[in-house]
Amino acid sequence: MAEREHGRRGQSGREHVRVAVIGSGFGGLGAAVRLRRAGITDFVVLERRGGVGGTWHDNTYPGCACDVPSHLYSFSFAPNPQWPRSFSGQAHIHAYLEGVADNFGLRPHIRLHHDVEQLTWDEDELRWVIETSQGTLTADVVVSATGPLSDPKIPDIPGLEGFGGKVFHSAEWDHDYDLRGKRVAMIGTGASAIQIVPAIQPTVGRLTLFQRTPPWVMPRVDRRISGLERWLHGKVPISATLRRQILWGVRELQVSAFTKRPQELGLVQRLALAHMRRAVKDPEMRRRLTPDYRIGCKRILLSNNYYPALTKPNVDLVASGLKEVRGNTLVAADGTETEVDAVIFGTGFHVTDMPIARKVKGAGGITLAEAWRDGMESLRGAGAAGFPNFLTIIGPNTGLGNSSMILMIEAQLNYMVDHLRQLDVLGGRVALDARPSAVHAWNKFVQDRMRRTVWNTGGCDSWYLDANGRNTTVWPGTTGEFRRLTREVRLEEYEVLRPKARGAGRAAATAGRPSKQEAAA
Ligand code: NAP
Repeated sequence: MAEREHGRRGQSGREHVRVAVIGSGFGGLGAAVRLRRAGITDFVVLERRGGVGGTWHDNTYPGCACDVPSHLYSFSFAPNPQWPRSFSGQAHIHAYLEGVADNFGLRPHIRLHHDVEQLTWDEDELRWVIETSQGTLTADVVVSATGPLSDPKIPDIPGLEGFGGKVFHSAEWDHDYDLRGKRVAMIGTGASAIQIVPAIQPTVGRLTLFQRTPPWVMPRVDRRISGLERWLHGKVPISATLRRQILWGVRELQVSAFTKRPQELGLVQRLALAHMRRAVKDPEMRRRLTPDYRIGCKRILLSNNYYPALTKPNVDLVASGLKEVRGNTLVAADGTETEVDAVIFGTGFHVTDMPIARKVKGAGGITLAEAWRDGMESLRGAGAAGFPNFLTIIGPNTGLGNSSMILMIEAQLNYMVDHLRQLDVLGGRVALDARPSAVHAWNKFVQDRMRRTVWNTGGCDSWYLDANGRNTTVWPGTTGEFRRLTREVRLEEYEVLRPKARGAGRAAATAGRPSKQEAAA
């Protein structure tokens, strides 16, 4: 692929790059590695924080760890034989990403403290104008790798602003605040909260957990990876590859239960109930902890110490959501009142209403948020119609219920590289804009498949569903299938844009032969 000079000055005098990547989490760093491998060095990675790592940089709460095994939750092109545990903690994952930035020579491309404030498509120049907190630059292609777990969500609770104590979100942990002996409220029972509860329970004076919906919790089969295993993975890399393949294969086999035969999850549900019974002896408490929806409908949580922590004498479980705050008293929807010194929100992220979408202005001045008013949709999870040369890593319907997101990210990176290759093949100043018909066909295909999935039929409300109840976050298939479907850009699914000749409009290059996907849908 053509290599160009890094950071040229455009005609406007502004810096111009071929590719601007937004975010330096797994998606952004992975994009940077793949760009370099494709021979493209004319790119920057814009990162709003003071360090790389994305969600693994931001989330430093006590107990923070990943519940996907590390040998699978890592890049295939950057194996780490030294993972210390089957499920590594935040510090090790963050250190791994720092290592990726160093070992792949990404540092010169990374611009820290560059918060992207506005992205505007310039229809005449066929490039993106990117306004950041540190100035403006332009790019031929934007790769948005901001991720779905980047903007913390604190619910609009009446009276919260009048609370006199400490308030923070799990993703913005205040390590200067001493929890020792304090009366603490934990709001939420998602993946973050169930790691925080056992980590802080021994320290706090009193812990009150506000549970709006109980989660399904399975045992966490975690162990230290022995010195011998690590030595073997270092000396015989194929052993680590094999380990990864087994972890991957097992999860691929589980997919059909989630997507086609949710009744098969009944056995898993019984295992989860037994897990709860082992730790919680009080039947009344078990009743309050037992979900009334099919396991898998919300993300299945893994923990060995969550239930035991709830049985400790300094812990209260309020089986109701937080509704209101009156002074220093928290009022639950069932009327329970609790006076506390601190409130920790484990209430998740803006997933289906990503704030970045409001900052992206595409063709005709329409923002991505406006284009997605009725729900997010993109072609193969990557490009939205009217947003030429704009690719999302972890875009709509690319999330997973049971496996490693890194597999999906790598598939999307294949697609990104092919997008750039296609631009090179077409030559000259050119942009690819997803055809509305192709976006529609892809989404029909995805939503048709979604109907039978446990996420849509399991009887729960989850962050997978948007305000209209549509599942715009999860991929209803195997990771292998998604990889095959995103191996290459199909030109017939795109409008090929050239700079406007005087008096001419947009130029469509290829006749719209429907793709296999469109035909199937
Ligand atoms: P989350 O899964 O979105 O959970 C948010 C929690 O807040 C839910 O339990 C929700 O209840 C609750 N909530 C919202 N408003 C409430 C209110 N007014 N009162 C009481 N509860 C309220 O958020 P998260 O735990 O931060 O996790 C987000 C995602 O991050 C996970 O699904 C996962 O993908 C990732 N993550 C992974 C790990 C891991 O690998 N172990 C760890 C942390 C995060 P409802 O259920 O009723 O909506």
